[in-house]
Amino acid sequence: MPSMITRAITADGSARIIFTDSTAIVAKAREIHNTSKTMTAVLGRSLTAASLMGSLLKDKGNTLTFQIKADGPAGAIVCVSDYKGNVRGYVDNPEVELPANPYGKLDVGGAVGIDGRLVIIKDMGMAEPYVGMCPLVTGEIGDDVSSYFATSEQTPTVCALGVRVNPDLTIKSAGGFLLQLLPGADEAVAEKIEENIAKISSVSQMIADGMTAEEIIAVALDGIEYQMFDEFDTDYVCPCTREKYLTALAGLSQKDIDELEAEGEPIETVCHFCDKRFVFDIQEVLVKRAQK
Ligand SMILES: [Zn+2]
Repeated sequence: MPSMITRAITADGSARIIFTDSTAIVAKAREIHNTSKTMTAVLGRSLTAASLMGSLLKDKGNTLTFQIKADGPAGAIVCVSDYKGNVRGYVDNPEVELPANPYGKLDVGGAVGIDGRLVIIKDMGMAEPYVGMCPLVTGEIGDDVSSYFATSEQTPTVCALGVRVNPDLTIKSAGGFLLQLLPGADEAVAEKIEENIAKISSVSQMIADGMTAEEIIAVALDGIEYQMFDEFDTDYVCPCTREKYLTALAGLSQKDIDELEAEGEPIETVCHFCDKRFVFDIQEVLVKRAQK
């Protein structure tokens, strides 16, 4: 089953929910990055959040970069998504493993760290990209995304994220949602949402239990009139190409080019996001450079 985003909006326009079952995306990420159990949850939650946030972009060609830099053993986390929620990502130290936290859960906060920040960069085809950031709250990622929306975008948001990993490291379930109050939201709707959210303990458990997007949205918006808005497939997608890397190599400084030429070895690049390897001959790089 592909990953999918499902969106709904309340009849009075007070709130919207963007839900995703990202199990397939997180499974692909685990395969590419060979992440430990805890790091599968770290990267999986980040990819899920980035995918949801990407789907709020306006246009084709817009991209959203989701970065966490903190003091935990995970190191930096980087995810990039598009307006259809397609996403790719990596974490500096995919092999890090930690004991379960005091609640018996994968210790995402311990791996990410708390002293750090979440940075969101939206490239919307303008001269300058939009950059928003906020300090981490718990490092559990969902809380940090909620805090980002409250402080940087003045949009009250509940972000729930979850990843369940099987003992053999395959993905049992992954997913999450953004539930946002829109400008001028009705007080009663806001209160009802708060009440509903308090009843949701784990979004990944709901998915693991076989609940559909429609059923989970029905729980979050229980007692409120709403309409399903749209639904679309999402995937783990890396748009890198050999040509892109060749162009990057051709743009290196003269000093770096001279060094590569002196070494006389084939030049190998590896994509952080998809692990694809490309090998170049220095002559090829020099020809490309001369064309510039
Ligand atoms: Zn790639």
